[in-house]
Amino acid sequence: MSKRLAAGALLFILGFVTYQVGDSLIPKENQMMMELFSGLLPKDIPTETFGLLLQFGGGIAAILGLIVCLNSLGRPVVRIQPVAAGSPEASAAPEKQRCKFCGGTLELDSVFCPVCGRSQK
Ligand SMILES: [Zn+2]
Repeated sequence: MSKRLAAGALLFILGFVTYQVGDSLIPKENQMMMELFSGLLPKDIPTETFGLLLQFGGGIAAILGLIVCLNSLGRPVVRIQPVAAGSPEASAAPEKQRCKFCGGTLELDSVFCPVCGRSQK
């Protein structure tokens, strides 16, 4: 895993967690979270405002992290080696196909079925 992808993923997770914390501060139903974080909050800022700020900042951080992740994924680290002709993978490919109308066997490049004569394209 590239460092950029790891950093992006970390930023996304941190942003998401921050968003969740902020989200938990806004509704009054989650009393346990309120009490847990109320001691950490600055006293001069209302809890709801702080929650909104956390949601906002966390949301932006998560989006940025996601963008960094997607950017780093755009440049694949692992290069897929092309299958060389004559290798076991290449020769394992089926050389025959079935007619989609009658089920007769025909060559892969056949346009018309030799059994029923219908076009395969
Ligand atoms: Zn056929």
